Amino acid sequence: MSRKIPSLADFRRIVIKVGSSLLVDAAAGRPREQWLAALAQDIATLHQEKRDILVVSSGAIALGRAVLKLPRGALKLEDSQAAAAVGQIALARIWAESLGKHGITAGQILVTLGDTEERRRYLNARETIDKLLEWKAVPVINENDTVATNEIRYGDNDRLAARVATMMSADLLVLLSDIDGLYDAPPGSGKDARLVPLVERITPEIEAMAGASGSELSRGGMMTKIEAGKIATSAGTHMVIASGHPDHALSAIAKGARCTWFLTPANPVTARKKWIAGSLEPRGVLFIDGGAVAALKRGKSLLPAGVKRVDGEFQRGDAVVIRDLDGAEIGRGLVAYDAADAGKVMGLSSPEAKNILGFEGRVEIVHRDDLVMSGGQETA
Ligand code: GLU
Repeated sequence: MSRKIPSLADFRRIVIKVGSSLLVDAAAGRPREQWLAALAQDIATLHQEKRDILVVSSGAIALGRAVLKLPRGALKLEDSQAAAAVGQIALARIWAESLGKHGITAGQILVTLGDTEERRRYLNARETIDKLLEWKAVPVINENDTVATNEIRYGDNDRLAARVATMMSADLLVLLSDIDGLYDAPPGSGKDARLVPLVERITPEIEAMAGASGSELSRGGMMTKIEAGKIATSAGTHMVIASGHPDHALSAIAKGARCTWFLTPANPVTARKKWIAGSLEPRGVLFIDGGAVAALKRGKSLLPAGVKRVDGEFQRGDAVVIRDLDGAEIGRGLVAYDAADAGKVMGLSSPEAKNILGFEGRVEIVHRDDLVMSGGQETA
């Protein structure tokens, strides 16, 4: 069965990766401040909507190059390290200023490969970033290019962003780049290439679309984006590749701009549960009897039979609180029916509920995968 394309509003913790060419006008040798102002505004909106936002920003080398007026062409490693030392200061400043205009505090994090690959350092980095998020700051992350050498560097911020996203259990990674998504044929292959809106699994065919690395047809950067997609989706993080070119690139995605979504097939449960347990505003309450409370504690789903009262106006998929008949909170979950249907089937056996709803299949009001017990009540 094919899965639905998600919407930005579905996500609670979002990592946004911004490519160098978006941030830096190489010809003019300066940052694209108007573009950044528009992006900062989009970030502020998500931030106000209680989303945790992390930025992975490239641009240190490109900005340093501009400031130092280095000639065009490939830089030697030591040159790019030194350019990054100059550019990173400018980069941090423009992020701090752009976000600061919206009352958002930015915090700079520079990581090396070892910081995400070594467990102890990984845990340390995670704690620091967690603290910033707790303080409602926006971490602005880049590779520590000044000390990263060829052997021990990411080299590209696509994979770095994917690592950060999984490290922080983000539920979405947005890659804003200069291409609007994955096309089904490499450019110049003579085929009429079409954008692929949804990738449910990264198969060898999908990799072939990105162009084998090193091949003449390989498109700049698409391979590392697919690599990023593998890292992200195998750890419960969805990913979207979208064009960063329009001003307000994030709200463009929210409004349905062309882009490619990569859905996570593996264990979305954990990320989803973290999201449910987090700061969703519950839209209603389901009051359940003692038998249902015991069943939930054993790790079962919530069936209509155990529900005794339904409060609130909610739609299918909304978050609801589950309480016992004394009103104590048992858990939270995403409800499978709207309030009217939930009211119709409450107290009924599963076959009766099926009759009323007129469909075959599962009748859980809140499926186990969409349910989080409050405060360690689970025994299963
Ligand atoms: N870390 C590099 C920089 O800030 C960018 C790497 C990339 O563009 O992927 O300049």
